[in-house]
Amino acid sequence: QYYRTFSHSALDFEILPVIDSTNQYLLDKIGELQSGFACAAEYQQAGRGRRGRQWFSPFGSNLYFSMYWRLEQGPAAAMGLSLVIGIVIANVLRQLSGQEIKVKWPNDLYLNDKKLAGILVELAGKTGDVAHVVMGSGINLMMHNPDHDIVNQAWANLGYIDRNLLVANLLNQLREAMCCFEQQGLHAFINEWMLLDNFVGRPVKLLIGDKIIKGIARGINDQGALLLEQDGHITPYIGGEISLRAD
Ligand code: ATP
Repeated sequence: QYYRTFSHSALDFEILPVIDSTNQYLLDKIGELQSGFACAAEYQQAGRGRRGRQWFSPFGSNLYFSMYWRLEQGPAAAMGLSLVIGIVIANVLRQLSGQEIKVKWPNDLYLNDKKLAGILVELAGKTGDVAHVVMGSGINLMMHNPDHDIVNQAWANLGYIDRNLLVANLLNQLREAMCCFEQQGLHAFINEWMLLDNFVGRPVKLLIGDKIIKGIARGINDQGALLLEQDGHITPYIGGEISLRAD
C-alpha cells in the first residue's frame, strides 16, 4: 500500500518549504491538477480555518497538507467530505502514535479534549455537476515555538511521529476513502464516526451567530448534519456557521 502512493505519477505530491496556504496553492492551480494531487509545507504564512480565521502554522515539524479532488456528487457533498477526512486523519494518527484521537463535528480533531488538528474543505468551482474541491489539514505535531505555549494551552500537540510515514499513509487512506465516499456516500462512514466522536452522548452547546442552543450530542446523520437531542427530540443541524462546544 505504501508504494502505491508514488506509482500514480512522479508529480502527484509536492513538498513546499514556505507557502501562504497549502489550500490556496492548490486552488491557484486547479486546472492543472488530477484528483488526488497533494502538497505539504513546512510553514504557512497565512494558514486559515473556517470563516477566514487564522490557523497558527509555525515552522517546526507540524504537518500542513492539502489535496485536490474532482467530486462527482457535486458541491452538496462537500459537507460530508470534511467528516470523512476527519475519520481518515484520526485513524492514521492513531495507527502511528497509539494515542486516542477523536473527531469533533464538523472539521476538527481532538486529543484529550483539546484541538489537535483542523480541516478546511474549500470549493474551487464546478464543471457541470462535478465540484472541484481542495481539502486541507493542519496537524499539531511538534510545536517548538515558545510563544505558542503561552498563547495557547488549549491546543493539543501529538508529539514526534515520522512525517514521511504520516503523509504516505494519509495519501493512501484518503484516496481510498474518497473512492468509497463517491460510491457509497457518507452512510458508509456513520458507524466509524460514532466511535470516534469526542462529544457523542455529552452535553454540548451550539454557537450559531449570537444564539446558543444546548442539548446532548447524538452524532451525525447521512447528510452530515449534527444531531442534537433536546427534551427527547432529535434535531439535525447543518451549516458552516455553527460552532460546537462542550457545555
Ligand atoms: P470552532 O472550534 O469554533 O468550531 P472552527 O472549527 O470554526 O472553530 P477553524 O476555523 O477550523 O475553527 O480553525 C480556526 C480556529 O482554530 C482559530 O480561531 C483558533 O481558535 C484555532 N487554532 C488556530 N490555530 C490552531 C492550531 N495550530 N492548533 C489548534 N487550534 C488552532
